[in-house]
Amino acid sequence: MTTLVFLEHHEGELLKGSLGVLSKAAQLGGDVAGVVLGAGVGEVASQAGPYGAQTVYVVDHESLKAPLPQPRVDGLAALIRDRGFDNVLFAQSVLAADVAAGLAARLDAGLNWDLVDLEIADGELVGKRPAIADSVVVDVGWTTTPRLALVRTGTFEPVESGGSASIEQVDASFEDFSTTAKMIEQAHAEAEGVSIEDADVIVAGGRGLGGPENFTLVEELAKALGGAVAATRAVVDAGWYPYSTQVGQTGKTVSPKLYIACGISGAIQHKVGMQGSGTIVAINKDPNAPIFEFCDFGVVGDVHAVVPKLTELVRSRKGG
Ligand SMILES: Cc1cc2nc3c(=O)[nH]c(=O)nc-3n(C[C@H](O)[C@H](O)[C@H](O)COP(=O)(O)OP(=O)(O)OC[C@H]3O[C@@H](n4cnc5c(N)ncnc54)[C@H](O)[C@@H]3O)c2cc1C
Repeated sequence: MTTLVFLEHHEGELLKGSLGVLSKAAQLGGDVAGVVLGAGVGEVASQAGPYGAQTVYVVDHESLKAPLPQPRVDGLAALIRDRGFDNVLFAQSVLAADVAAGLAARLDAGLNWDLVDLEIADGELVGKRPAIADSVVVDVGWTTTPRLALVRTGTFEPVESGGSASIEQVDASFEDFSTTAKMIEQAHAEAEGVSIEDADVIVAGGRGLGGPENFTLVEELAKALGGAVAATRAVVDAGWYPYSTQVGQTGKTVSPKLYIACGISGAIQHKVGMQGSGTIVAINKDPNAPIFEFCDFGVVGDVHAVVPKLTELVRSRKGG
């Protein structure tokens, strides 16, 4: 089995999501390669070896400088046609979704997306995909090769196995229509502190906080624990907290070591985004709230009383 992993990068670093998918591919076995496309990306490619890539193909060209999909589809399609891969894996991102969809069309290949796990059954790749509003997980396969797969954000953690990859430069040529789109401007959202995708500790707030002003309760607890703040869709839709912090089916998938849910009911669409957390703590005044069915520790109580006390306790234990 041969697998190619699309290695996305930003500011000279391979993205955690791509490294997670690469680590998973290495665990599944067979020949595992990565591909880095960009301009001046030779250094970036060498970061993939420790995460399980035996070979990293580098497609380095000025036309790949901007994070636009079409030139990447050209580069990947040529590589896949020349070398032949059974599986081509992507970690979900706006760019990866565009590239994977364009590649599927170009190669007339099947693409399964939003996968939350991968396994080998009878020597063939099988994807796991949530369905029916994330209430069940179904097995999905492919009828042809290459099998293209987009993996949901945060599904696999990067695991260093200590290897090193051989780096192979690949020539690029582009279709006329692939280089006509130009990037005019690129903006970055400024965020303070650790992001929810990378945080070991997340304190999440729901509608039970009662209003946007009460998010200071979760912010204070997150600060005391050195963690990040997340939110439910209900509060994001109400404009209480930014969309970038939404956890769940239509938000981000997170897997911190500790997830503290404050005033969150635990709807299935929220649960699917945080059920991979190490330890889940819920604070909710309703003993029948669904979150108590899947949390590890539950406190039945009012967030306004419990959360400040918890913050105080953490601060005093930390000696400050
Ligand atoms: C297609 C679709 C996609 C969705 N995607 C997402 C998603 O990505 N993420 C997401 O989060 N949701 C998503 N939802 C919405 C989801 O179904 C829930 O409506 C939402 O998660 C509820 O948010 P909540 O827990 O903050 O609010 P509620 O369900 O209103 O729960 C508030 C909780 O706070 C408790 N409470 C109230 N006052 C207090 C207090 N003083 N102290 C302690 N507890 C208190 C209540 O007992 C209650 O359990 C989606 C829905 C659909 C249909």
